[in-house]
Amino acid sequence: MSKIMRFSREYKKEDTIIEVKNTKIGGKFFALAAGPCAVESEDQYFETARLVRESGANIIRGSVYKPRTSPYSFQGIGSEGLKIIRDLGEELGVTTETEVLDVRDIPKVAEHVDILRVGARNMQNFSLLKALARVDNPIILKRGLSATIKEWLLAAEYLMQQGKENIILCERGIRTFEPSTRNTLDLVAVPLLKHKTHLPVIVDPSHGTGRPELILPASKAAVAIGAHGLLIEVHRNPEEALSDKDQALTPNQFHELVQAINPLLAMEGKRVIG
Ligand code: PEP
Ligand code: MN
Repeated sequence: MSKIMRFSREYKKEDTIIEVKNTKIGGKFFALAAGPCAVESEDQYFETARLVRESGANIIRGSVYKPRTSPYSFQGIGSEGLKIIRDLGEELGVTTETEVLDVRDIPKVAEHVDILRVGARNMQNFSLLKALARVDNPIILKRGLSATIKEWLLAAEYLMQQGKENIILCERGIRTFEPSTRNTLDLVAVPLLKHKTHLPVIVDPSHGTGRPELILPASKAAVAIGAHGLLIEVHRNPEEALSDKDQALTPNQFHELVQAINPLLAMEGKRVIG
């Protein structure tokens, strides 16, 4: 007899709805997560966060530990950024998220930030996953750089094997032979996953396309295909961004994006709360 996986619809029929701070994610609750790729300074993070919040974001993104391809690229401001994220979460009363790269950082990240993200490069970092299985915070588990759906779900099972349930899957594109976009955004993964799992599935069209002009259409398609949320990079001044400047939306572009997806969210019966 094959084992029933905890991520599966056989194990749990109804959609998992994750409650964090004043937000819910899953089922009819839509996560609109936005903010800079990286927290660069208190000023840059707060200003960008306030602007995306005014446009309707209910979760603020921003990394302090950056997994960069080149060791000479900006590596993030590190642990000092955690206090900045906590201050913003308290001041705006908004839900926050950030990436955790190293097992040793888990306790302090979990203490300062609401949602912890496992980046694409760590989807199969099994020691990180096993350690994260023990924290209470919800986890965003991004799809690996070229991971199959099965590998991705089994990575989620590493988090869930001891009973943890508050996992959010994030489609962020996979590497294919097509170089015109940064990655190939696999939107069909969303309805496919809905058959296989009760976990919420969100979409990151920023890393998924790498091109600002594609982020709006990809976001509309993500909503229409049933995603439970979006994760979008916005910088107050993209030209000055220390990482991923070529894919960052301006706050105005993000505002337009929210206006464009609102009617689609209403059609899907989805709501952004918190
Ligand atoms: C990110 O969201 O900050 C990020 C690094 O993306 P990914 O892990 O999908 O490459
Ligand atoms: Mn980025």
